[in-house]
Amino acid sequence: MPDTRLMTFIPTRAAGLERLHQFAPRAGEKYAQGRNYDDGTPDNGMRGNVSQLSPWLHAGLISEAEVLEAVLEAHGPKTAESFISEVFWRVYFKGYLEQRPTIWQSFTENRDQAFAMLEANSGLAKAYAEATEGRTGIAAFDHWARELVQTGYLHNHARMWFASIWIFTLKLDWELGADFFLRHLADGDAASNTLSWRWVGGLHTAGKTYLATASNIARFTERHPDGPLEAEGLAEEAQPLSEPQDHSRSMPKLPAGDLPQARFALLLHDEGASHEPLALTRSPSLIISAPRPEARSPGEIGDIARSFAREATQNAAKAAADTFDCPMVDWTATQPLAEQLSTAGVEHVVTAYLPTGWTKDALWPELREIEEAGRLTQIVSDLSRATWPHARAGFFRVKKAIPDVLGELGLAGG
Ligand SMILES: Cc1cc2nc3c(=O)[nH]c(=O)nc-3n(C[C@H](O)[C@H](O)[C@H](O)COP(=O)(O)OP(=O)(O)OC[C@H]3O[C@@H](n4cnc5c(N)ncnc54)[C@H](O)[C@@H]3O)c2cc1C
Repeated sequence: MPDTRLMTFIPTRAAGLERLHQFAPRAGEKYAQGRNYDDGTPDNGMRGNVSQLSPWLHAGLISEAEVLEAVLEAHGPKTAESFISEVFWRVYFKGYLEQRPTIWQSFTENRDQAFAMLEANSGLAKAYAEATEGRTGIAAFDHWARELVQTGYLHNHARMWFASIWIFTLKLDWELGADFFLRHLADGDAASNTLSWRWVGGLHTAGKTYLATASNIARFTERHPDGPLEAEGLAEEAQPLSEPQDHSRSMPKLPAGDLPQARFALLLHDEGASHEPLALTRSPSLIISAPRPEARSPGEIGDIARSFAREATQNAAKAAADTFDCPMVDWTATQPLAEQLSTAGVEHVVTAYLPTGWTKDALWPELREIEEAGRLTQIVSDLSRATWPHARAGFFRVKKAIPDVLGELGLAGG
């Protein structure tokens, strides 16, 4: 018998829309009351109290605006306030990292150094192996370590508890924990993941940390099939982490996104897999599929995260080639993009905006030249364009702006 939980996240736009359609009726009061409970992974993989839409959102198979529209239609802005606010956390984190890209650079550098330390220190290597293999003796933590690897998903509260125990009880480098998440989460996202780990550790909101406690874990896992989950011996205080560098803020000039008059190739990638949210007004002459899940980490990428990202891009590329009745090619890491374009007689490339993170790190060395020649169009969603200027500091500015942003986008609902 195949493990059905491994098939939870079907990497197509149709499956993402189906999940949205199923979940939208539950995104009102039920969500607000129940979202903090980690009820475990049911046999069919899909929980009742949270949407689990994050893998499809991360891959760009469905857009945040589509999710907001469906939920607003079902409930209106007041009843769906809690769910809408969570979706805006995602957009906020994206905008925040875009304005402070050195946070991502320093994460990757420190992660590589932390891996080198593991090589040099057998005690640390043992502690890291116990944590990632679920052998620490802290029952709840060990459960989540295995659940993450087996399902490609963890509930938000479990992510918070896990990160807190990793940092303050096990005293492991936060970058190694964030890397473990990125290697296994189907929704692994450079912004939400890095900034959430920093938030737990006290680096995002200076001095404010998140301390996991056994009583809170027991309370919010009381309906879990193995619950309430036990967590003995947790740290009783959480001293904020510190770092030497100051990540100064600067809003990048966002590309205008105008389509070229000339023939163009549509580039689909890990964070912009589907053409549909882009609502192109002209048809491409070539589809380029460029999944790069292996760029998430120098370590081994989990099967679920890797295959979801790879297949999301490939399935969406086939769908785009059918829709636009044009050829499709794979741009692999070993094949120069310029060659693919020249063979197809195309000079311009159009793509969903490449945000700060590993996808951009992997693709930019070859795209830079095309951008510098004025032949790259990146499409930024209207929601990001309207929200990012508010993502300067804490979430509160974004929260305050939500009604205006929804109004500006014609999404204000009931
Ligand atoms: C340590 C840590 C690491 C995380 N890493 C990631 C990550 O790599 N990728 C990722 O998408 N999210 C991450 N999150 C945020 C959050 O846990 C997930 O987005 C959420 O659990 C996804 O499940 P869902 O789709 O059922 O969420 P729902 O509760 O159904 O929320 C709907 C949507 O809102 C967004 N959202 C919800 N909560 C948050 C949040 N706290 N921050 C940002 N966006 C949110 C997601 O896009 C989600 O799909 C992390 C949180 C923590 C504490």
